[in-house]
Amino acid sequence: MKHFETLIQLQDHFASEQVCRDHLAALRWGADGIPCCPFCGVVGAYSIEKGKRFKCKDKGCAKKFSVTVGTVFENTKLPLRVWFAAIYLACNSSKGVSSLQLSRNLGITQKTGWFLLCRIREMLIERTPTLLHGVVEADETYIGGAETNKHAVKRTEGMYGGKGKAPVLGILERDGRVVVKPIENSKRATIQPIVRQHVAIGSVLSTDEHTGYKGMRKTYSHITVNHHTGEYVKGNAHTNGIENFWSLMKRGINGIYHQVSPKHLHRYCDEYAYRFNNRLARQEDKFNTAVFQADGRRLTYRLLIGKDKVSCP
Ligand SMILES: [Zn+2]
Repeated sequence: MKHFETLIQLQDHFASEQVCRDHLAALRWGADGIPCCPFCGVVGAYSIEKGKRFKCKDKGCAKKFSVTVGTVFENTKLPLRVWFAAIYLACNSSKGVSSLQLSRNLGITQKTGWFLLCRIREMLIERTPTLLHGVVEADETYIGGAETNKHAVKRTEGMYGGKGKAPVLGILERDGRVVVKPIENSKRATIQPIVRQHVAIGSVLSTDEHTGYKGMRKTYSHITVNHHTGEYVKGNAHTNGIENFWSLMKRGINGIYHQVSPKHLHRYCDEYAYRFNNRLARQEDKFNTAVFQADGRRLTYRLLIGKDKVSCP
C-alpha cells in the first residue's frame, strides 16, 4: 500500500473512486480483498460492473452489493474521495473541523458537511471497551452552551452546572488513553459504575475531593487533592492530565463548533477521545483506523435527527 501523510499526498493517492473502493475493500476484507457478502456472510463473490460491484457466489443468495454496503458509506451520493478528505481533516485537526470549514474546503453544502461529520464521528467510536491501568485520573466537567456569546450576567458561575451545559465524566490513564462519557449527574451512583467499568482493579485513582468518588478506596488506591482549598498537586495526586484534555475539548467546542446540543454530546466526546487516544499515531494510521471502523456503522439522517427509532445495521 502506498503511503500518504499529508492531505496533498492523500488526494494524489486517492485519485479515483476505484482506488478509494479498493482501499475500503482491503481494510474490510483483508489484503487479498476477497469480498464477504453483507447479506449472508459467505466469503467469495463475482466481480460485476467492471469491479464496481459484486455478486454473492452463494446460489441461494446471489445478491449484488458494493464495498460500501453495511458501512457508514452505504447509499452515499457523495464521492468517496470527498469522504476520505473529510475523514482525514476530522482525524487530524486537533480541535476538530467545522461543517462550515468542510463545506468551503470540499465544495459541499454546510448541511451535507454537518451530516458528514456526524457520520464520521460514528467511525471514531472506540470498538473495544477501554480498561485503564496504573495511575488514572477521573474528573467531571460541564460542556455546552457557548459562554463567550452570553451576556456576563447570564454566564454560569461556579464549578458545577449551568443552563445548556451537560455534565461529562473523563477518565484518563497518565501518558495513556482517555474515556469520555456524558453523564446524567455527578452523583456517586452515576460516576462509580463507569469508573469501575473502565479502570482496572488495584490501579491508583487520582481525583479531587468531590463526594462522587467517596468509597472508591475499596477498589483502588485512591489519592485526592482538595481543589476547594486551592490544592492542585499533592505528590502524585493531581488531575492535570484530564484538565488539559478538558481545556483542549472546550477550546475546540467553543471555537470550532460553537454549540453542542446535549443530544449529540456523546458524539463529540467520542471524537475528542479518538483524536487524543491516537495522538501519537501517524496521520495515515489515524485515517485508516477511522475508515476501518466504518464497517457496520451506518447512520441515516432520519436516525440522526431522531425521526427513526430503529437502530440501523
Ligand atoms: Zn450472499
